[in-house]
Amino acid sequence: MTVPEQLAAQDLSPADLDVVVISHLDCDHANGLRGVRNARRIMVSRDEMRCATRFPNSLVRFNASWWRGIDLDLYDWNDHEGPAGRSYDLFGDRSVQLINIPGHTDGQVAMKITAPSGRYVLLFADGGYATRSWRDMVTSGIVYDRHAQRSSLEWIREQSLSPLGLAPMYWTVH
Ligand SMILES: [Zn+2]
Repeated sequence: MTVPEQLAAQDLSPADLDVVVISHLDCDHANGLRGVRNARRIMVSRDEMRCATRFPNSLVRFNASWWRGIDLDLYDWNDHEGPAGRSYDLFGDRSVQLINIPGHTDGQVAMKITAPSGRYVLLFADGGYATRSWRDMVTSGIVYDRHAQRSSLEWIREQSLSPLGLAPMYWTVH
């Protein structure tokens, strides 16, 4: 089910979305962008766009046709959380942090959503694929920088062991 279909099932439309955060610019995380183009704000890290423009368009990665003509908010890091010490504090209160987890791509982000109690959920898209990824440190087949990916996976592993973490979760937008 596409995002617009899922929204419609809840009597909502993409124009009702305040923010759409893109984790990274692979096809299974970005080729549905047109479906949410009327959202108020669509965010992609500037590092991710820089990474995407270094590569020729392909069917699976960094294909500019997925975002051509769409008004993207390319943001710079404004905080220092995560494995690379680069993050973006979305609301200025650290309740939602977009945390750079480089490796699979360069500007990929995980989203850490923290409740007032301090407990949090971590969404990390292709930062890992299944529990085995971070338990046994299995990096992905598609990689931009394997050394960085390993560091990011180690950080995800630390988060999975934290008593404050609720659950590591996979995140994708179709
Ligand atoms: Zn990916």
